[in-house]
Amino acid sequence: MSHHLVVLGAGYAGLVAAKRAARRLRDSDVTITLINAGDRFVERIRLHQLAAGQHLHDLPLLDLLSGTRVGLITARVCAVDAAARTVRLDGAPHSVGYDTLVVALGSRPHHGTVPGAAEHAHTLAGAGEAERLHRHVSRLAPGSTVAVVGGGLTGLETASELAETYPALRMTLFTASGTGDGLSPHAQRHLQRALDRLKVTVHSGTHITEVHPGALLSDDGTPHAADAVVWATGFRAPSLAREAGFATDEQGRMTVDRTLCSVSHPEVYGVGDAAAGHTGSAGITRMSCQTAMPMGRQVADVIAARLTGREPEPARVRYVFTNISLGRHDGIVQFTRADDSPRAAALTGRTAAAFKEAVVRSTVLAIRRC
Ligand SMILES: Cc1cc2nc3c(=O)[nH]c(=O)nc-3n(C[C@H](O)[C@H](O)[C@H](O)COP(=O)(O)OP(=O)(O)OC[C@H]3O[C@@H](n4cnc5c(N)ncnc54)[C@H](O)[C@@H]3O)c2cc1C
Repeated sequence: MSHHLVVLGAGYAGLVAAKRAARRLRDSDVTITLINAGDRFVERIRLHQLAAGQHLHDLPLLDLLSGTRVGLITARVCAVDAAARTVRLDGAPHSVGYDTLVVALGSRPHHGTVPGAAEHAHTLAGAGEAERLHRHVSRLAPGSTVAVVGGGLTGLETASELAETYPALRMTLFTASGTGDGLSPHAQRHLQRALDRLKVTVHSGTHITEVHPGALLSDDGTPHAADAVVWATGFRAPSLAREAGFATDEQGRMTVDRTLCSVSHPEVYGVGDAAAGHTGSAGITRMSCQTAMPMGRQVADVIAARLTGREPEPARVRYVFTNISLGRHDGIVQFTRADDSPRAAALTGRTAAAFKEAVVRSTVLAIRRC
């Protein structure tokens, strides 16, 4: 019987890993199965656009996998039994055995311990959540307030996109630190001008401590009106890897060595948001699409090398730039050093928006071609 390689999650990392492994290995050597909760590829980096009511391309996984010999199972992974090397699913075939497992289950929004956040706030966890946010926001009366909590890239992109699409709404952004931390001074000035132009009111250095229907409370006791709340304070890996007994860090990301192999289970690999990979000089990998896709490619190469008796090259992720869209016609491309710190150079305005759109399109093209 041939070796069974099972990949969990068909996002940026998992889809690339499964397709590339299929190209690198012969049919007689390995059977490849990709398991995903839905039957569509979700362009997660466009979810703020979906939340603003824009139409996204329909990308059936079967279409993206056509011509490959990757078998697709559409089901939710409920658990991994590491001792039995079996994955349990919520639908047929209910359980799948593996010889090698790649965990690429992405990440989930992190509500922390803020009362009311999980109950009353929207997130951009997936396409369903983004569409729900859009339904809510599109029905609000003019003058209503939308509060985005979290001033990282997801919060900035969401606040800008909604502000551009719904100028009659009041847009507020709450950030625990500053705005655009990690950008060069030139890019920060541009960000400030863009948020002013879009009439996004920014509350920097403000911790939100409670979420209620129609209002937020900050740590100084001030109530803030909020007819819709978007929670964008960060992401955590799903608990599945930890529950399976795989070594994980405090964010629930799998702890992997330089070949993306679990430090606790040598037959298991972790990629994308679900794993804390290593970079040359920037510490562990940042949760991002620009990290997930190289990790997917590299894990396929590592597994192909090991299954054919070769020594794998260590995986390496290098940062080049960070992209931020500020609506459809404005943006920032912050060029970065290999350690992810900002260089002085940054593109802004329409050029940056066009650059980002080209990068986003290129991800789907790369997935089709890999
Ligand atoms: C609004 C927004 C904008 C972003 N913009 C950028 C950007 O401009 N640049 C950038 O680099 N990054 C960006 N990111 C981050 C980026 O989207 C993620 O880092 C990237 O998607 C991680 O890829 P992944 O393959 O690890 O996970 P994902 O793309 O999330 O894929 C995980 C897959 O696993 C599946 N899955 C999860 N749990 C289960 C289960 N139990 N059973 C079966 N299947 C399951 C999911 O359905 C999904 O298909 C953005 C994120 C958001 C939310």
